[in-house]
Amino acid sequence: MIIVMQQGASKEELAEVKKQIRELGYTPHVIHGETRNVVGAVGDERGKAVLQALESLPGVESVVPILKPFKLASREVKPEPSAVEIAPGLAVGGDELIVMAGPCSVESEEQIVETARAVKAAGAQVLRGGAFKPRTSPYSFQGMEEEGLKLLDLARRETGLPIVTEVVNPRDVELVARYADVMQVGARNTQNFALLKMLGQLDKPILLKRGMATTIQEFLMSAEYILSEGNQKVILCERGIRTFETATRNTLDISAVPVLKAQTHLPVIIDPSHATGHAHLVAPMCYASVAAGADGLIVEVHPQPEKASSDGAQSLRPEDFAAMMRKLAEFAAVSGKTLRLPEGA
Ligand code: PEP
Ligand code: MN
Repeated sequence: MIIVMQQGASKEELAEVKKQIRELGYTPHVIHGETRNVVGAVGDERGKAVLQALESLPGVESVVPILKPFKLASREVKPEPSAVEIAPGLAVGGDELIVMAGPCSVESEEQIVETARAVKAAGAQVLRGGAFKPRTSPYSFQGMEEEGLKLLDLARRETGLPIVTEVVNPRDVELVARYADVMQVGARNTQNFALLKMLGQLDKPILLKRGMATTIQEFLMSAEYILSEGNQKVILCERGIRTFETATRNTLDISAVPVLKAQTHLPVIIDPSHATGHAHLVAPMCYASVAAGADGLIVEVHPQPEKASSDGAQSLRPEDFAAMMRKLAEFAAVSGKTLRLPEGA
């Protein structure tokens, strides 16, 4: 159920609504809208009719059921788009197009610092890099773990770029959270509900990737796991789904952007690297993503892709990334987003 507060309802009235929701055995989640606040009452679906009585409380305009199975993620609860702040003055979901870029895996100090400098000079606002890698084969490189997190921290201090990095296992949440500005949940963990619940207890942005075999509804239910624990800072990422097609690593579901945007207020970004698996397909998919209304991109870039420990074939060279960014700025402009490139980019 959502309890829609009247425009101009007082703080005390809102507090009373929250208290009553709790007394009825539900959890209140306040969503601050531009003109009014709404309170989502989340809990057992079966007894929710009791919440209807809250309509009589002062400051309450109406009590309406949420029809979608995902509640806090839905546009019903919050019609206007949400912007998720990553660092002071830097938000995903606003007017600015946000580009996250960096290697698949952190491999060495030289590699991550050099890449960070290059992607920053080209206009990326966030550095990506995996320290814990979810690999298909147990014999493949598994990541540098804490050492990799320390190198990301070093690259952040060198460049000022905030970092997004993946957490694979619930037991590493605390460790990764000590370093990351944004915690990434990979496609193989989209429905790892224990992990999602733990991330819901953090006060940190979560980049939630769509699983390679999850429907849009399942994807939004995964977001709901994080939101319902109290963390409202969720960024959704489409990274390709598995189809019969083998020409690309996955099939980029570009329609996921407008479909998600119609159903949720959460920001949506695209990962064209894992979606295609080939460096030469990354730039066209970046342009298409922005044209479709994406709020940002996460792109793999490596100074020497042929030597990469993981995902070299889909990684852009820094100069190709810079060229892509220049053209992307034009696509962003016609799509109503700004991409401000640094001087000399
Ligand atoms: C990654 O970002 O390097 C990664 C493993 O992505 P995904 O979970 O989308 O496969
Ligand atoms: Mn990768």
